[in-house]
Amino acid sequence: MISFYPGPSRVYSKVTEYIYEAYMDGIMSINHRSQDFMKLYADTRSVLVEKLDVPEDYQVVFVSAATECWEIIAQSLTRESSQHFHNGAFGKKWAEYTDKLTSQVVSTPFDLNEALPVTAVDLTADVLCVTQCETSNGTYVSEATLKQLGDARNTDQLIAVDATSSLGGVDINLRLADVWFASVQKCFGLPAGMAIMILSPDAVRRAEVLADKKHYNSLLWILENASKNQSHHTPNVLDIYLLYRTQLKSKGIAKTDHKLTERLKYWDQFFEDLDYFEWLVENPALRSKTVMALKCPEPEKVKKKARNADFVIGNGYGPWREDTIRIANFPAIKGKEIEGLSKLLRKYFN
Ligand SMILES: *Cc1c(COP(=O)(O)O)cnc(C)c1O
Repeated sequence: MISFYPGPSRVYSKVTEYIYEAYMDGIMSINHRSQDFMKLYADTRSVLVEKLDVPEDYQVVFVSAATECWEIIAQSLTRESSQHFHNGAFGKKWAEYTDKLTSQVVSTPFDLNEALPVTAVDLTADVLCVTQCETSNGTYVSEATLKQLGDARNTDQLIAVDATSSLGGVDINLRLADVWFASVQKCFGLPAGMAIMILSPDAVRRAEVLADKKHYNSLLWILENASKNQSHHTPNVLDIYLLYRTQLKSKGIAKTDHKLTERLKYWDQFFEDLDYFEWLVENPALRSKTVMALKCPEPEKVKKKARNADFVIGNGYGPWREDTIRIANFPAIKGKEIEGLSKLLRKYFN
C-alpha cells in the first residue's frame, strides 16, 4: 500500500530498518534522564539545525503534536489576545482551541483564492497566527506574504506559524516568524506522535516575561528541560531517534525543496492534460507545493480505483469533502510511486 494521504502519510522506507536498529540498540527502553538519551536529544537538535537551516539564535524543542503547540502558544505566549488568519479547517480549529484558553481571539477568515490579508492585522494582538500550508485545502502562505505581515505588525507582536505540512519539505526562511511548529507525520515522513517547535529569541523572551508555570507543558518548563537535553515528560524516544536517522540522511532542505518543486511541475502539467481534474485553488501562486487539492466529479470513484491498485489518496476535508481529493507531495514519496499513480489516473480518468 503506497500512501499519498496528506497525513498521516507515507513514512520513509528506511524507517523499518531504523526501528529494528532502535530495538537492537535498546533505544526504545532508554531512560529519558540518561546520558544516552541526552546525547540523542542534542544530536537530533543539531542535525535539524543543520538540515533545516535553523538560525543560530533560535531554539528547537520537541513536543507531542501540532495541536499541543496551539495550546502552548495560547498558554505561554499570549497575554490576552491572538489574531488568527484562516481559510480552512486546521487554521479554524487553532482559533477555536485558543478561544477556550484565552480572553480574546480575533478571527480573520479569508477566501482560499485570495492572499492572506496583511492589511487586516490587529495591532493589539499579542500573537499573529498563520497556517502556512492549510492541509485541508492545499493553500499556502508565501514568504513574501509572511514578510509583509512582519512589516505590518508592531515589533512586539509575535508571529506564530503552523508549518505542519511545510516544515521538512519546503525551504523556509525561519527568520520570518517567531514560532514555527510541525507534527512529524506529514513532511517529515515519520509515524505520528511528536512535533517540532522552533522559537525565536523574541518568543523565548515573551515566555520569560509571561512566566506561565501552570501547565505540564508550560513553555518555560519545556525550555528549562531542553537546556539540559531533556524533555518535560517521557518523550516519544523512538520518533526522536527516527527523526535523527532520517534527517541525518537528508541532503538538506534546499535539495528537498527542489525535488518537490520539480514534482509539482510534473503534477501541474499532468492535471492540465486531464480534463477530469481541476485545481481547487485557482491561483497557482496560492497553491501549496506539498498538498494538492483537486476538484473532480466523483472523488469516491478516484479513491476506489486508486485503492484497488494499492494507492491511498486523501479525502476532501471539511467543506470540500464531497467534491475534492487531496494528494500529498511529501518528500518520502518515491519517483516511481508518482509514476505509478499518474499512470493509473491517466488510464481511468482521461
Ligand atoms: C495535521 C495538522 C495538524 C494536526 O496535527 P496533530 O499532530 O494531529 O496535532 C495541525 N495543523 C496542520 C496544518 C495539520 O496539517
